[in-house]
Amino acid sequence: MIERKVVLITGGAGYIGSHTTLVLLRAGYKVLVLDNLSNSSYLSLKRVSKMTGTAPSFVHGDVRDRRLLDNLFRLNKVDSVIHFAGLKAVGESVNDPLSYYSNNTAGTVTLCQAMAAAGVCSLIFSSSATVYGNGATVPINEEQMADYPTNPYGRSKRMIEQILFDLARSNDKWSIGVLRYFNPVGAHESGLIGEDPLGVPNNLLPYLAQVALGKMPELPIFGDDYETHDGTGVRDYIHVMDLAEGHLSALTALETRSGVNIWNLGTGKGYSVLEVVQAFEAANGCNVPYRIVGRRPGDIAVCYADPSKAARELGWHAKLDLTTMMRDTWRWQTLNPNGYRD
Ligand code: NAD
Ligand code: UDP
Repeated sequence: MIERKVVLITGGAGYIGSHTTLVLLRAGYKVLVLDNLSNSSYLSLKRVSKMTGTAPSFVHGDVRDRRLLDNLFRLNKVDSVIHFAGLKAVGESVNDPLSYYSNNTAGTVTLCQAMAAAGVCSLIFSSSATVYGNGATVPINEEQMADYPTNPYGRSKRMIEQILFDLARSNDKWSIGVLRYFNPVGAHESGLIGEDPLGVPNNLLPYLAQVALGKMPELPIFGDDYETHDGTGVRDYIHVMDLAEGHLSALTALETRSGVNIWNLGTGKGYSVLEVVQAFEAANGCNVPYRIVGRRPGDIAVCYADPSKAARELGWHAKLDLTTMMRDTWRWQTLNPNGYRD
């Protein structure tokens, strides 16, 4: 009998984590999720179990808890770790930087210490296009590290990347994938799992969907005076299922690679805020009232990926288009108007 590989997914109950758990279970992996549920619900994993007919094991706990991690690695023969757990709100990170350095940076150090002690050396880390800072030229390739990020969230991610490089230099047993995500959006096509932000959403798509649902009166568009074709900000939106598939490809690639491998996960296409609003309206036949307001501090005009390294080295590319992203966002939102809180 072939033994199924075991993957520990930290933050696996969250938005990207739950979709990746689904993809890995379907690919035949055994999945163990560790999550403190600070920004998610256990219901996401219950739905994943229903969708796959297989339940991931679940440990309710914190990635900074070394004793818990040691027990977890002692009781389970883990082959690889995918590390999503962390905080992700840029604005909150400015007001509460220590929580970001604690959950994100210190959390990753504790996880790596426990992995090293247990002899588990295969790690995929969730990084972000935010590590490129403001000076990068589009399309952004993995070599461009012109500026240091301008906020504590971005700095916590960039610090982790540097720590991982040092770790891999210290011992060639490590195989590390650093995945720099562009703008994850959308939901699984069933509408059963999706993004469930607490309180007022920070990101464009969840905000836009709540306006379309009538929960918010209008979408504020942060500036129409950028140097872009219509003046609004341009981003590389990527469907969360494509992103989840990217983790599966990276996991397989790490079996034959060592050191730190950085891959952009994006589509390589940029869309403006106004184009996203129009695409959402056209895909879903609904109206999204908006108002142009001032620029949001820290925003840049244009950001999209050069995804060719991932295509070359992982054989992965994003397949789902903007219309699919809009439809799937709306299906999730209409089926679950209060997210997982019903
Ligand atoms: P999310 O908040 O939905 O998921 C993160 C999960 O980690 C949550 O379930 C939360 O409860 C858990 N968590 C947080 N701190 C923890 C801790 N100390 N111990 C254990 N669990 C903890 O966010 P997401 O959008 O799924 O993002 C996943 C990862 O991807 C994060 O590291 C994020 O920084 C990164 N990322 C996200 C985006 C995005 O736009 N969503 C973009 C780039 C990078
Ligand atoms: N944006 C907007 N209104 C909102 C939220 C976002 O106009 O309510 C714009 C934002 O200025 C950026 C784009 O939408 O140009 C994507 O923002 P988001 O916060 O989703 O992701 P970011 O690229 O900032 O990580």
